[in-house]
Amino acid sequence: VSHVPAAATPAVVVGAGLAGLATALRLAPEPCVVVTTGHLGQAAATAWAQGGLAAALGPDDSPEQHATDTLAAGAGLCDAEVVRQVTAGAGQAVAFLEGVGARFDRGAGGGYRLGLEAAHSRRRILHAGGDGSGAEILCAVVERIRRAPSVTVLEHTSAVRLTTSGEGVTGIVVSRAGHGEHHIAASRVVLATGGTGALWRHTTNPLTAVGQGLALAARAGAVLRDLEMVQFHPTALDVGTDPMPLVSEAVRGAGATFADQGGQPLPIDPLGPRDVVARAVWAHQATGRRVHLDARRSLGRDFATAFPGVAAACRAAGIDPAVDLVPVRPAAHYHCGGVAVDERGRTSVPGLWACGEVSSTGLHGANRLASNSLLEAVVSAGSVAEDVASSPRRPARHAPASGAVVPPVVSPATLARTRRLLSEAAGVLRDGPILERAVADLSAHAVEDGLEAIDDATLVAWMVCASALRRTESRGGHTRTDHPEPAAQPAHTLLTLPDLAEDLPAPTIARSA
Ligand SMILES: Cc1cc2nc3c(=O)[nH]c(=O)nc-3n(C[C@H](O)[C@H](O)[C@H](O)COP(=O)(O)OP(=O)(O)OC[C@H]3O[C@@H](n4cnc5c(N)ncnc54)[C@H](O)[C@@H]3O)c2cc1C
Repeated sequence: VSHVPAAATPAVVVGAGLAGLATALRLAPEPCVVVTTGHLGQAAATAWAQGGLAAALGPDDSPEQHATDTLAAGAGLCDAEVVRQVTAGAGQAVAFLEGVGARFDRGAGGGYRLGLEAAHSRRRILHAGGDGSGAEILCAVVERIRRAPSVTVLEHTSAVRLTTSGEGVTGIVVSRAGHGEHHIAASRVVLATGGTGALWRHTTNPLTAVGQGLALAARAGAVLRDLEMVQFHPTALDVGTDPMPLVSEAVRGAGATFADQGGQPLPIDPLGPRDVVARAVWAHQATGRRVHLDARRSLGRDFATAFPGVAAACRAAGIDPAVDLVPVRPAAHYHCGGVAVDERGRTSVPGLWACGEVSSTGLHGANRLASNSLLEAVVSAGSVAEDVASSPRRPARHAPASGAVVPPVVSPATLARTRRLLSEAAGVLRDGPILERAVADLSAHAVEDGLEAIDDATLVAWMVCASALRRTESRGGHTRTDHPEPAAQPAHTLLTLPDLAEDLPAPTIARSA
C-alpha cells in the first residue's frame, strides 16, 4: 500500500450511483472525492431502474398515505419517523432531480404522468423516458457531476479497506486498475456502494453489486442491521444470462398469467405482493418444474409495443412472447438490510456515513415498497451531505502504509462458491439446518486463518447467513420453513464483526483478540 499525500482532506464518497452522486452534488461547494469501481454512469443499479421514483404528488395522494403504504410493506421493521421524513421529502427530491436536468414524463395537460405499482394505494410512480427511469436520472446527475468544480471523480478505483483510529475514520485504501493500492487520508467517508444481488446465483443486479460496502463497514467496526432482509423479484427472465433481465410487474398488470411448461395455468396470483408471488414461484420450481409467464392471449402482438425492453431481451433468447411462453424465476433484486444509520446517515463509526441501498435507514423494514429506493437515495443524500458538511473536520491523519491490511482478492472460483452457498441457504425459502451448514462453510477460513484472511464476498455471505439464522421467524422478505410464523414482537437483527467471531471456535477468537 503506497500513500497518496493530501494537502487537505475533502470528504470521500465511495460509489457513483444515485446515492453517491447526489451526495456529492448536495455537498457542493464543499470539495469531495468520488471513487467508483467502473466508468462514471456504469456498473450502478441506478441506471437499470425501470419502474421509477415514488412520490405522493397526485391530487388524491399525500405523504401520509405514502407512509401508510410503506409501513404496511415493511411488516413491522420500519422506523415510522424515517418513513415520515422520506415520504415527506419526495417533492423536494423531485425538484432536486429536475434541477439537475432529469425530465420526468408528463401528460398532455403538463402534469406528471403517475403510474401505479403493486402495494401502492395511489398512482404515485414518476417515470422518466418510459421504462428507462434510472438511466435518464443517472445520465442527468452524471452530466452535472462532470461540470461540478467541487467534485473530483476517480474512476476504475475500488475502495478495499477503511482505515480507522480510536477517534474514527482516517481514510480509505483504494485499488486503482493498473496502479496498485493507495491510501487516501480522509476523516469523513460516505459509503454509497449499492446492493448485494450479485452474491446470489440468480440476480437482476449488475455483477459489481457484491456488497463490498458492507464488508468495508463491518471491518471498520460498524453495526449492520437486518442483513437477512433481501427482496427477490419473482419474475426475472430465465434464459441463462447473468445477470437476468427483469420481466417487470407491469407485464402481469397487463394480463400475463403464470403457466407451467405445457402452458397449463398455475395457481399463482399474478398480482399478489412481490414476496408472496416469489415464494409461490420458488415452491413450484422446487418440485423440479419450470415456471412461465403466458402473455399470448392477453397481450399477443401488442407485447413488443407495450414492453419493448422485455421483448428485446426475449428476442435475444429466441423467444417471441406473442406466441411463446416466457420462462421466469425469482432472482435477488434489492437488499433491504444494510449498514445501520441514524436519520442523518451516520453509522456507528465516527466519520463514516452510509447512503442508498448499502444503508439501513429504517425506510424499508422487512420488505421494500416498489420504487421507494430511488426516492430514499435522493432524500438521504440531502441529509447525509448536510451532516457531513457540518461535522467537525479532524486533522488529516496519514495512516502508515503497514496499518492497512487489505483483504484477499475475491477469485472467480471463490465468488462462484459463495454464490452457490448463499443461493442454497439464503434464497426465497430458508431453513435452520441448511443455514447452519452454510455458516460453517463460509466461516471455515476464519476458523483456520483468522478474520483478516477472509475475502469480502465470503464475509458478506457469512454475515447474511448468520443474520438469517438468528431471525427465528418469518417476516417480509425472510421466510424460514422451520419458523413459518412471525414473532409476536418485531425486532431488528444487529450484527458486528466481533459478534460473528464470538460464534467461531476458540482458535480464531484467540488470534483476533
Ligand atoms: C433491474 C433493477 C430495476 C430496479 N428498478 C427500480 C425502480 O424502478 N425504482 C426504484 O426505486 N428502485 C429500483 N431498483 C433499485 C434501485 O435501482 C437501487 O436500489 C438504487 O439505484 C441504488 O442506488 P445506489 O446509489 O445506492 O447504488 P448503485 O446505483 O448500485 O451504485 C453503487 C455504486 O457503488 C460503486 N461501488 C460498489 N462497490 C464499490 C467499491 N468497493 N469501491 C468503489 N465503488 C464501489 C458501484 O460501481 C456503483 O457506482 C431497481 C434495481 C434493479 C437492479
